[in-house]
Amino acid sequence: MGTIVQIKVPLRPGLDKKAADYAIDRAFDEIDRVEKVFSVYRQDSEISRINGLKLGEEMKITTETFSLIERSVEYTKKTSGAFDITVYPLVRLWQDARMSGRLPAVSEIKKALEKVGAANIILDKTKMTISFAKDGVAIDLGGVAKGYATDRAIKVLQEIGIRDAIVNSGGDIYCLGARSKFRPWRVGIRHPRKSSEVFMELDVMDEAVVTSGDYEKYFTLEGRRYSHIIDPRTGYPVGDYIISATVVSEDTVRADMLATALCVLGREGLKIVDSEKAMAAIVVKDGDKMKVEMAGNVRGSFRVYQKKLSQ
Ligand code: AMP
Ligand code: MG
Repeated sequence: MGTIVQIKVPLRPGLDKKAADYAIDRAFDEIDRVEKVFSVYRQDSEISRINGLKLGEEMKITTETFSLIERSVEYTKKTSGAFDITVYPLVRLWQDARMSGRLPAVSEIKKALEKVGAANIILDKTKMTISFAKDGVAIDLGGVAKGYATDRAIKVLQEIGIRDAIVNSGGDIYCLGARSKFRPWRVGIRHPRKSSEVFMELDVMDEAVVTSGDYEKYFTLEGRRYSHIIDPRTGYPVGDYIISATVVSEDTVRADMLATALCVLGREGLKIVDSEKAMAAIVVKDGDKMKVEMAGNVRGSFRVYQKKLSQ
């Protein structure tokens, strides 16, 4: 996948550089392991083997994979279908469009859409198996795997005895403990259109901060900008009205799924965040400017430099 991972463990009395480096190495190992299980780009990954299932075939899967798929399906319901890991046939169709420089035909989108829908995933908890209700169903955990890898890396650090750390897996950040005795961790969110500027800052302790946006990965075709996030209900990449979504939660997996869903739902999605253990800030287009809208309980912890956005 080529995700850039950064892990910081501040030195403390009783924690020297050697011990910190050891912990960091183990956390990186764990992220590599998770990537090997969930990457659709590896033919030997568990997820690729699942995607090779034919109609009527079932496969025994690990508890880890089962749980992550189960949680993803739960969030498909919570987000009214905006977050859906069965979006993969559409993801592939739009990847082909990017490669070939040719937009998919309406008929191709319709065909791919027939395979999309979390209801097509059949999970059997007693047998720990997965099967699909239709031929051609395939899943993509790209919208949640980085969050999962981050949570796992944090668990590994904690098991080694680390109390303060920051793990950043391609923009999915978890802040364990604090930066120092007197300061929480500070996370800056990059300006969606000016990569060297920060337009929002947050101070967090024991929380995840995840950002999804149309600027991390996108492509242009026939003069239009296309996001890598697809609306599973229409089959088209989300429009450029929602520029980015940042979600804060104590759970990186939840934050990751909600951030992707908010890019699909925009303002509507903020209501979902209000009922979850999370808070969010989305950047939306306001004429030819941008503005921030928020949801959740602890609005005060986001510092938004609105001026930077409206320039
Ligand atoms: P993220 O960067 O977490 O927002 O995840 C984006 C990735 O998730 C994409 O590159 C796709 O692999 C996948 N994806 C795209 N659209 C969706 C969607 N609506 N629901 C779930 N996963 C998606
Ligand atoms: Mg996500």
